[in-house]
This record gives sequence, C-alpha cells and structure tokens, in this order.
Amino acid sequence: MTIEILNTGSELLLGRILNTHQQWLCARLTQAGYPVTRQVLVSDRSDDIQQAVREALGRADLVITTGGLGPTCDDITRERIAELLDRPLEFDASVSQSVQAFFRSRGRPVPPRTRVEAMVPKGAVVLPNGHGTAPGLRLGVAPNPFRPGGGPSWLVMLPGPPRELRPMFDDQVLPWIASEFPLEGGFACRTLKTSGIGESNMEELISGPLRHLTDRGMDLGFCARVGEVDVRFVARGADASSVVAEAESITRRLAGDAVFGEQDEVLEGVLVRELTRRRQTLALAESCTGGHIAHRLTNVPGASAVFLAGYVTYANTAKVRTLGVREETLRESGAVSEAVARQMAEGARAVSGADWALSVTGIAGPSGGTPDKPVGTVWMALAGPAGTEAVQRLNRFDRETFKFTTGQQAMHLLFQHLNRAES
Ligand code: ATP
Ligand code: MG
Repeated sequence: MTIEILNTGSELLLGRILNTHQQWLCARLTQAGYPVTRQVLVSDRSDDIQQAVREALGRADLVITTGGLGPTCDDITRERIAELLDRPLEFDASVSQSVQAFFRSRGRPVPPRTRVEAMVPKGAVVLPNGHGTAPGLRLGVAPNPFRPGGGPSWLVMLPGPPRELRPMFDDQVLPWIASEFPLEGGFACRTLKTSGIGESNMEELISGPLRHLTDRGMDLGFCARVGEVDVRFVARGADASSVVAEAESITRRLAGDAVFGEQDEVLEGVLVRELTRRRQTLALAESCTGGHIAHRLTNVPGASAVFLAGYVTYANTAKVRTLGVREETLRESGAVSEAVARQMAEGARAVSGADWALSVTGIAGPSGGTPDKPVGTVWMALAGPAGTEAVQRLNRFDRETFKFTTGQQAMHLLFQHLNRAES
C-alpha cells in the first residue's frame, strides 16, 4: 500500500512554523505498519494544491492532506480539491449545527464565515472535529482519473491545528485504514523510551544479545533525542509479536531502569502515574532550570494529585529564605554544590510536606564557569522517606537544551528511586 502526505500552508514554507504533522503522521503510520512513501509541502495557492493532489493521486492508494479547512481566505484545500475532482460542495446541516454548538458552548457568537466549514464535497464522509470546528473529510476517488488504469484511491483531508488533527487521526482515520487496508501477515512495532544511557552505549549493550532476532529480519532502530533515547523494534510475519516481545524483554533486562516507558510516553507522565499509584507527593526546588520541571509536570493531566509545590529559588537569598539553605554553606561550598543541592531538596520536602523533593542547581552558561566548576556543572538531589541522594552531572548545551536535559536527569533520578522502592 502506498501512502502520501500533502501538507499545505504558506506559513510552513515561510519557516514561521515547524511542519510537525509530517513527523507525527509518519511516526503514527509507521508504528501501525503503514510506512509513508512520499511527503510534500505546498503553499496555500490554488495551483500548487491542485497540482500536488493530482500528482499524489496518480501514485498513491491513500493521500492525506493537512491544513486549509478553516474559514479564512487562505483556507482553500476543501474548495480546490472539490473543484479538481469535480465534486460540487453541498451544505451539510449537521456539520453546521455542530459548528454552531462549538461557539455557543464557549459563549461566543458564530462567525458567519464558518458557514464554509459545513460545505462538504459530494460523496465525502465527514470526520467530526471534537476539538475545533472544521471537520475532516474522507473521499473515495474511484475511478481515479489521475492514476494509470484508473485504479481507486482515497483522499483524507485533516485540519491544520495539531490538537484537532491528532485525535481525529487516532480515533477516526487510523482505525479506518486498518480495516480498509488490512495488513498481510503479522506486524509488530514497539518503542521503549530510555534515559541515562547514550545512543551508542545502548547499541553496544543490546545489539549483540538481539542479533539472533535481527538476523531473522527484525529491525532494531535507535532515535536519540534530548535527554533520552528511543529503542524501536519492528518485525513482520506470523511470529512478529513474539519476536518483538522477546526483544523487549532482553532489552529491559539489560538496560534496567534506564527504560522508563513505552511508545509515546514522557518521563513526567510516567512520574505522575507512578506517584499517583503510590499515593505519594512531590515538591521541587529549582534553580538553574527556572521552573522547567514544574512546567513539564503540570503539563500532565492529573498532576494536582501528586505535585504539591515548586520553588524557583534562583538567587541565594531565595534559597536561604524559602528553603532554609544555610548561608555558611553557600559561602563555603557555593550555590552549585552537593551540600546546597541536598539542603534545597530537604528544605523543599520540609516546607511542602511532600514525600519526595527534587532539587537542581547548576551553571547553565555561557558564562559563570570556573576551573573547578565549569559551565554545565549541575548538582541535583532527591530527598525522600529513606534519606537524600545527590548526583553531579556535566551538561554543556545551549540554555534551553540544558534545562531539558537537566530536568530529564532529575526526573529520572526519582523514577529510579520509585522503581527501587518497588523491587
Ligand atoms: P483553522 O480552522 O484553524 O484555520 P485549518 O484546517 O484551516 O484550521 P491551517 O489554517 O492550515 O488549518 O492551519 C492552522 C494552524 O495549524 C496553523 O497556523 C499552524 O499553527 C497549525 N498547523 C497547520 N499545519 C501544520 C503543520 N504541518 N505542522 C504543525 N502545525 C501546523
Ligand atoms: Mg486556517
């Protein structure tokens, strides 16, 4: 089966926003056993969209377009595709009603221009939009005038905003693809999320022990991200599931608590889940990360069940006043030191009453380093029911990457302790 993705939007070509749909859709489809064969990005211009759709329909069984379904004058994907395929647009009363209900439930007047969102190309199936107004559309193109031989193709149009596109794709498009294009033979794909072991070390650790599986055709892939490495296994054939399960269990045994999750999980999500399960709470004392860890934790729905407080104590005076860090420790050891990291964590735990408290203090750079404390030096500590552990790291990155990596390491420290407490 061939799938092509057609992203529309002049703002993408202007470099104003990153084309995350390309990456997200390719990852979702690959994970499900449907590799994407081509991806193209075009502007919001009539000719560009029509030409790209014509070409893609000439090759692919399924063409997925993104963007341009909204009410503004640059949203022309629906109209231009309807024109190209000679499918007149028809007013759909139920779409119109849900668009109106969307605005009413938010106490806002219905903009007259949203009427175009209820115009549906003849024969198209409407994919309701649970998170916005413009629905997605699915259109069978059969016979397909652009394909040699006229064989059928499908066209799926998805809205531009990621928070609308993603649930629509997961809930309405992927299940339809699986039933319309059933996979022949078996297919299994699994991603393990890891932190604390670099990409090459991970490869060295597991590629030998997995060789009997890769020799049988299993794909082993690594994807290094900031502060984490994804390990991916893909197998096809009747025994695909058992091959991937064996690879997973070997990797988990060798990598231990470097493995913090699966598929699309994020470390902060895993922590909220695990703390909730244990009915335990967390506080943070952040210096060099400036609230970054608190931000990530509070991105997770349900964080309020476990996250009590985050103290951003950037200045020494704040470390003293808020967390009870001792002035003489700051004077003798400096703000970036094991002793201060420990006192920050213990102070945050005492002030908040949380079961666990994580602290970080470091030198983000580019200036501020010394010979014995170079730029990138970080001390972090975890205070918990059984005492306090402190670790040192050296993170030499730009400031944003520094924050993410440091946050990842601190959260991973807590993950390891939760794991150990369990076993
Ligand atoms: P709307 O009703 O919001 O206008 P739409 O279906 O017309 O939705 P667009 O106007 O093309 O979609 O895009 C709306 C917004 O969605 C863009 O401004 C951008 O923020 C985001 N977006 C669109 N395409 C992409 C993409 N490929 N990757 C990431 N974000 C995107
Ligand atoms: Mg738009």
